Amino acid sequence: MAYDRNNVFARILRGEIPCRKVYEDEWALAFHDINPLAPVHVLVIPKGEYVSMADFTANAPAEAVAGLFRAVGKVAEILGVVESGYRILANHGANAHQEVPHLHVHLFAGAPLGPMLK
Ligand code: 5GP
Repeated sequence: MAYDRNNVFARILRGEIPCRKVYEDEWALAFHDINPLAPVHVLVIPKGEYVSMADFTANAPAEAVAGLFRAVGKVAEILGVVESGYRILANHGANAHQEVPHLHVHLFAGAPLGPMLK
């Protein structure tokens, strides 16, 4: 699937749509989900143009992959949820109900979580 430069997260990255930013570095941007499914629900996205986890793991340089996952760890620290616990999840494709075609890692925290979210 070709990357759609007008998807909502591409527009957030370009500053065309506002977001509640949690963290940003050269590799990633993290912001609160507009429709939270847990007391803490943050999305961490790579700055490169990657549709999904499959696109990212196949095509991103190693430092971009490391950068995204280091950013997830930093977000957990910033939110103060390392001790209490958190869950990360990335939906890929139709069966997983991926809605936005720019890779995003969900981070859920803030309460005991059920066995599945989303
Ligand atoms: P997916 O189902 O693709 O894994 O999740 C997409 C997520 O993006 C959903 O949890 C949805 O609430 C969130 N989302 C969609 N549009 C926006 C937006 O404009 N701003 C923010 N902050 N989150 C969004």
